[in-house]
Amino acid sequence: MAGAADQNDTIFGKILRGEIPAARVWEDEHCIAFRDVSPAAPTHVLVIPREHLRTANDFVDADPALLGHLLVVAAKIARQEGIAEGGYRLVMNCNPDGGQSVYHVHLHVLGGRQMSWPPG
Ligand code: AMP
Repeated sequence: MAGAADQNDTIFGKILRGEIPAARVWEDEHCIAFRDVSPAAPTHVLVIPREHLRTANDFVDADPALLGHLLVVAAKIARQEGIAEGGYRLVMNCNPDGGQSVYHVHLHVLGGRQMSWPPG
């Protein structure tokens, strides 16, 4: 989990601080959501907490209400994006084997096409 000295130099930390642009689709006191710069589906939005949690492993010490909030916002974004009824996929990659590349926790909201299973 982030300590006081953690500057969050991840790309998402920079987006949170407004140092680099992002196409934001949601913003509240706990999280923001923006379009993935390299979309893997017609709709591809990332929901991130303002708090710097590095990976899903940090959830062990995190506020469960915050974690629940991320899911609520993801569902609202799915509705907002018009993919709720057709269906969508929520993904959170963790550490190298999970395919994580940015070490600020983020929930992928993917939709607008048929998803396959199992994931690659
Ligand atoms: P992950 O591999 O699960 O860590 O996902 C990181 C995601 O962040 C990838 O889907 C990238 O395309 C996306 N990404 C990286 N840089 C940016 C950026 N500047 N703005 C929006 N999305 C980004």
